[in-house]
Amino acid sequence: MDFTSAKHRIEQLKVVLWENSRKYYVENAPTMSDYEYDQLMHELEDLEAQYPQYATADSPTRRVGSDLEERAEGGFAKYPHKYPMLSLANTYSIEEVEEFAERAAKGLDKPFTYCCELKFDGTAICLTYKNGVLFRALTRGDGVQGDDVTRNALQIASIPHKLKGSGWPQEFEIRGEVLMPYESFDRLNEEREALEEPLFANPRNAASGSLKLQDPEEVGKRGLFCTLYHIPTGQVDYPTHDEALRAAESWGLPVSAHRRICANIGEIEAFIEHWDTARKELPYATDGIVIKINQMDCQQDLGYTAKSPRWAVAYKFKAEQACTPILSIDYQVGRTGAVTPVANLEPVLLSGTMVKRATLVNEDQIRSLDIHEGDWVYVEKGGEIIPKITGVEESKRQPGARIPSFPTVCPDCGTPLVREEGEAKWFCPNRQGCPTQIKGRLEHFVSRKAMNILCGEATIEQLYNLNLVTLPSHLYSLKADQLVMLEGWKERAAARFLDSVKASLKVPFERVLFAIGIRFVGETTARDVARHFGSIDAIASATKEELLEVPEVGEVIADSIFHYFLDLKNCQEVEALRAAGLQMSVEASAQKLSAALEGKSIVISGNFSISREEMKALIEAHGGKNSSSVSGKTDYLLAGTKPGPEKLKKAADLGVEVIDEEKFRSLIGEIPVQAGNDQELTLF
Ligand code: NAD
Repeated sequence: MDFTSAKHRIEQLKVVLWENSRKYYVENAPTMSDYEYDQLMHELEDLEAQYPQYATADSPTRRVGSDLEERAEGGFAKYPHKYPMLSLANTYSIEEVEEFAERAAKGLDKPFTYCCELKFDGTAICLTYKNGVLFRALTRGDGVQGDDVTRNALQIASIPHKLKGSGWPQEFEIRGEVLMPYESFDRLNEEREALEEPLFANPRNAASGSLKLQDPEEVGKRGLFCTLYHIPTGQVDYPTHDEALRAAESWGLPVSAHRRICANIGEIEAFIEHWDTARKELPYATDGIVIKINQMDCQQDLGYTAKSPRWAVAYKFKAEQACTPILSIDYQVGRTGAVTPVANLEPVLLSGTMVKRATLVNEDQIRSLDIHEGDWVYVEKGGEIIPKITGVEESKRQPGARIPSFPTVCPDCGTPLVREEGEAKWFCPNRQGCPTQIKGRLEHFVSRKAMNILCGEATIEQLYNLNLVTLPSHLYSLKADQLVMLEGWKERAAARFLDSVKASLKVPFERVLFAIGIRFVGETTARDVARHFGSIDAIASATKEELLEVPEVGEVIADSIFHYFLDLKNCQEVEALRAAGLQMSVEASAQKLSAALEGKSIVISGNFSISREEMKALIEAHGGKNSSSVSGKTDYLLAGTKPGPEKLKKAADLGVEVIDEEKFRSLIGEIPVQAGNDQELTLF
């Protein structure tokens, strides 16, 4: 691979991994299997090792995925973890577990053992007990700070409010996992199906989503339970991890009995082999085995990388598979014009659900799997609802079976498909005329996370077919008397729909930016870009270099945004949306993140780690007011590098407190990461 291709691939992988990390941790709705995610992560790790000049601090290889809620109001309070909650290095191969054991032996000059445990597939939690009473429960968050879910944790029967026995430290943290057993998961999904609510893909997502509910009583009904597996070093004084867990058990804390002390790799392998089968009998999901060095002093000697401890490794089980024949293949066009092959399968039971369709991803995947028509294929279901085909059972192939021919024209509008260099997918280039793409873009625009307009697929189809709506801006000129004339519309439905269209005018700018559907600009990127530039005009006129200044925006995204605004039709549509009254700047739609600066008048001066526009937006987002000049009413002068001398003098004369960016960030509750201090770091 040449340097340019490597750089491009690294950028692409970073975008895909961060976006999927958000879907997984925040939305609890992954669209990729864990195996696939982990393969992409390993590819990125390898590329960064080969091309260190392109490895950046914001890479997903160096930071844990964040579950922090970014809700403007009514969200959870955030608190720092006493010790960062890290991830685990993981592998799917026994050889790599052997390598881990060899590395540990090399790094340690004393005898040690391993503690092997189940890897529970739920959502991580950190409990703090003070004087024997549950004081706080935090999610992993971004590893540095977590969402405070104490009220919800108190509803989980297996989490004791008060400890029993004696010997517990006056204050300590213990970490573990909140899980949803299969039985509760099935019941919950049945209830959701009856209410036509979206189903959870798996118990992990259901546990994580339930722990973040706003109503603790509802949490209590979800049948969650907790299992604990780690007390950070320095909190208790036991020579081994296993003894610390035993003590926790004696205090009434839920600790899993399914662990074993192993002396060597042979015993570890036997434990893995046993649980690969035995886990299928457990009432809850596990996705691997965690192998930890048992001796606390050895753990300290080995220390941590930026993302995980060097004294533990997770061996992950591969997802369950089923084998079934392909009945036919559909080629679906998405809102970006990408064509995805989807196989219709003879229905087969997999991990408790009936599978009828599976994605074949793209043409290369069909070729690399060597799929023929009517083949029996292996299907896997990882994190996602739509399963994936991972292999072919060649022994069952019919003689003379043909290789499926990928369409050369769009299955919807007949336009010849194109495949650009570096793209894995074929695209229909008829962006403005292909009905599926137009409807797909409209569906995206109205979706809950974008403009949240009460309008389903069928309504879009109807409005599009009648030529009433072909662009998002057309939604804003619809009238009630027009709608009530349409089939199936009653006055009330029309009024509710139009109310939601009107309400969408208040949707903050960052969601508008997400809604207009720029390729590769997911929710997180839209938020980052919106906050960095402050307005649509600033984004539209930004150069590629300026776009690259946004943290986590790489070549691929910068290119996509830049080209979006080069297209006159896109600019015209943005103007039409602006004319309709949508929020086109951060200031106009300042999102409240907290009330930390409520009632405070702040003057900024100098340069900061973010743009001045962004700093002003941040002040407002935390309830503060920006003011341009220092007066007796000013609460703080926020001084960056090279602040204006006159402002500083005036502040001194009037006794106005001068704060720097670090102090400001602590005021709004942002905690700096203490990197590089291995002694202080601990797992989970
Ligand atoms: P992880 O789930 O691979 O391992 C770390 C976590 O394991 C810990 O945080 C802890 O919560 C949990 N754990 C369970 N049992 C444990 C035990 N006995 N001891 C210690 N920890 C235990 O790491 P992660 O950082 O939470 O998540 C990364 C993984 O999540 C990826 O490897 C991937 O498989 C998955 N993921 C998938 C997607 C997707 O789109 N499918 C996206 C992001 C992440």
